[in-house]
Amino acid sequence: MAKRPKAVHQLTEKQFEDMFPHEDACRAYLVARRWPEGVRCPRCGNPAVYDLPSRKWHWQCEKCAPDGYRFSVLAGTIFENTNKPLRDWYKVVHLMLTSKKGMSALQIKRYMGFGSYKTAWSMCHKVRTALMQDLDKLGGIVEVDETFVGGKDKNRHWDKRSGKSGGAGDPLKFVVIGAVKRKGNVIVRVIDKINTPTLETFVRETVSTRVSLLCTDENAGYRRLGFRYNHGVVDHAKGVHVVGAVHTNTIEGFWSIIKRGVVGTFHKVSKKYLPLYVAEFQFRYNNRFNEDIFGAAIEGV
Ligand SMILES: [Zn+2]
Repeated sequence: MAKRPKAVHQLTEKQFEDMFPHEDACRAYLVARRWPEGVRCPRCGNPAVYDLPSRKWHWQCEKCAPDGYRFSVLAGTIFENTNKPLRDWYKVVHLMLTSKKGMSALQIKRYMGFGSYKTAWSMCHKVRTALMQDLDKLGGIVEVDETFVGGKDKNRHWDKRSGKSGGAGDPLKFVVIGAVKRKGNVIVRVIDKINTPTLETFVRETVSTRVSLLCTDENAGYRRLGFRYNHGVVDHAKGVHVVGAVHTNTIEGFWSIIKRGVVGTFHKVSKKYLPLYVAEFQFRYNNRFNEDIFGAAIEGV
């Protein structure tokens, strides 16, 4: 059985070099994270695979192909069919995870010394797909809120932005909705419009009905949640932001992180890729106390 690698939160340059001095170390780490119980065929899940003595980090499964299916440690991961060394990939993952506001493809290109912007861009997006999480419904005290992300006033500092210019009509401004458990996970999605069915569907899919308290603002789309949930409302329009335990400050804190990232780091984000950026911010937030955030990311590749 492969030994579980040591947990590290923010690797320093030196720690990174010590942990991953060469490709073999990177491959051994990937084996341990992908298959903690031993190597399995990525196609059929068969655990009885054979080492290929002639090729390191390759195995053969005799169950799912008549002549045997040969696979490498990279098979079925975002690293498959890449000509970049795993060390480069790990470095990119590490940079993306340790930067609070995210790193743009241009920053990655410069930092890594890549010749091509497109390479950096494609690597970043592949890493983001690995950071997408399937999360359990939230319980405890949960806040739900929606906001606009992006938009034409992108060049202004985030706290100077009107938050109104363009509004829903701005082609670079998108609606995201999120639910956050206080001291727990956040679940965020990009939605097409803010209306009652969309808001209710999101809440039903992400928040457990056994929640102790569900906080939203006074948006009319949330008005029927009281039938299923213990629902507390803050009336922002009337200047009320906190009533006892009822407030949406946690999710608003998350919005400011994501807006600073999208506006300050990524500048222009298209609707097609916004879910990937959102997944990246969600992953970083949900692993903010995880000592082994790097390992968690590698498990998702
Ligand atoms: Zn197989």
